[in-house]
Amino acid sequence: MDSSDYDFLFKVVLCGDSGVGKTNLHLRFQGKEFKPDFKSTVGVDFATKTLKVDGKTLKTQIWDSSGQERFRSVSHAYYRGAVGALLVYDISKKNSFESLKTWLKDIKNYAEPNITCIIIGNKCDLSDIREVSTEEGKEFAVECGFSFVETSALDNTNVDKAFEQILTQIYRVAA
Ligand code: GDP
Repeated sequence: MDSSDYDFLFKVVLCGDSGVGKTNLHLRFQGKEFKPDFKSTVGVDFATKTLKVDGKTLKTQIWDSSGQERFRSVSHAYYRGAVGALLVYDISKKNSFESLKTWLKDIKNYAEPNITCIIIGNKCDLSDIREVSTEEGKEFAVECGFSFVETSALDNTNVDKAFEQILTQIYRVAA
């Protein structure tokens, strides 16, 4: 796809603790299968996806830190030029929800000031061992002024919805 094939090109980054499901969400965004124990080599990885909004073709690069978050070495280069961030936690791990505050600090330090964020509570299929209620997730998102969605990369619930929501919001800011 060359630059004449799209109207806008957006960079969106995946943020959140190791193990919350970023890699599998990334696979789902690309229309690929869930891989329980898939780990690509450490390094930044991105995939492109295209969506039409208001007759405009929005091409998006979705970046996954591919394990670098384990070493807290995700920084400037990862956030540079990003217009969106998907902040992911695991609904069955309270710690991963509490970590979002640290992730937001990094975003404030490294990303563009007008970046659009969405909070994603992943693994909603694990409701029997849930540690973060839907209300808590929603409240936090409202406090931050972000939208909120619960997803499951495992059974592919709301993954497209999360992607469409953030892209529509980014488009509104950019257009
Ligand atoms: P990352 O470290 O954030 O990239 O997370 P991964 O995508 O590698 O997932 C970490 C673990 O959680 C793996 O064992 C996945 O199989 C599992 N996982 C990811 N998403 C889901 C989900 O939606 N539901 C459930 N039950 N497990 C998931």
